[in-house]
Amino acid sequence: MSTAVASPFRFFSLHVLRTRRVSPSLTRVTFGGDELRDFRSHGLDQSLSLFLPHPGQEEPVVPIELGDSWWQGWRELPDDVRAVMRSYTLRGLRADAHGRTTEIDIDFVLHGIGGDSGSSEAGPASRWASQAGPGDRVLLLGPALADNRAIRFRPPDGTDLVLLWADETALPATAAILEALPAGTRVRAWIEVPDVQDVQELVTDADAEITWFTHSTHDTAQDSPMALDGIRAAQLPSAERPYVWIAGESGSVKQLRRHFVSERGIDRRAVTFVGYWRRGLTEEQLREQGE
Ligand SMILES: Cc1cc2nc3c(=O)[nH]c(=O)nc-3n(C[C@H](O)[C@H](O)[C@H](O)COP(=O)(O)OP(=O)(O)OC[C@H]3O[C@@H](n4cnc5c(N)ncnc54)[C@H](O)[C@@H]3O)c2cc1C
Repeated sequence: MSTAVASPFRFFSLHVLRTRRVSPSLTRVTFGGDELRDFRSHGLDQSLSLFLPHPGQEEPVVPIELGDSWWQGWRELPDDVRAVMRSYTLRGLRADAHGRTTEIDIDFVLHGIGGDSGSSEAGPASRWASQAGPGDRVLLLGPALADNRAIRFRPPDGTDLVLLWADETALPATAAILEALPAGTRVRAWIEVPDVQDVQELVTDADAEITWFTHSTHDTAQDSPMALDGIRAAQLPSAERPYVWIAGESGSVKQLRRHFVSERGIDRRAVTFVGYWRRGLTEEQLREQGE
């Protein structure tokens, strides 16, 4: 028997195949490339590290030739040379008849780009996505093993109710989670998006009740989590083993986690919470703070 352990993550050199505006705040970028054939994922909230070029660069600069030392080498490059690294979620994956991945989709929030409330700043990734076109090159650090630790949605055995909260950045993950949940799973989901037109038809076999909140019907973008009062007031179905998954803006995530653990008394080990971004901080600044 072989004892070799395959590495769960590797770099994939990809290019844009096409883009599609999903709604005012979200654009879908579909990527392809020969290397994708070895990409494997069970989906759900599969996160990926995306490396983007700076304006004027043909391709993102990451010294992958350094092997395991790429991170150190990348950090030592000048800021305006080294690729912009950002976290995103796998929204969709298509494979050929042999199980080789042919295309993947990522949904990008276009924060700070025209269409949204105008209260947020653009970042290099939202700007890149707003201008992406066929042939544009990126590098992805993603899974070569379908079950990997960058999937955090893990309801414990015996879970009898799934509670989800997401803002627009975690809508792609929520949509993929709902698509994957089997019939009979009881789900309550609260989703916050900037615009009424960002509300999507979500496909699921689960027994899901989804409540949407939009900034256009609430006061301001700062008023988050908009859902907190609604969640506090909600009469949840009775459950022995609820599981909670919360992802989005860090401050909101913290408030909601506190609600579920302290106010609702849900076992903290059954609460998965992930800060996807922090108001006022770029992803580099967040990483420096070790969050
Ligand atoms: C595991 C994981 C999965 C993620 N999946 C997705 C995904 O599928 N789709 C997606 O769009 N995002 C996703 N995100 C969030 C995304 O990585 C951040 O929004 C990131 O900051 C965007 O990079 P940027 O270059 O556009 O902005 P940055 O340069 O990082 O930030 C610039 C400024 O914009 C603010 N900002 C960042 N994001 C937003 C926002 N959404 N709305 C308003 N202001 C913002 C920052 O606070 C900062 O002030 C995910 C994050 C994590 C950790």
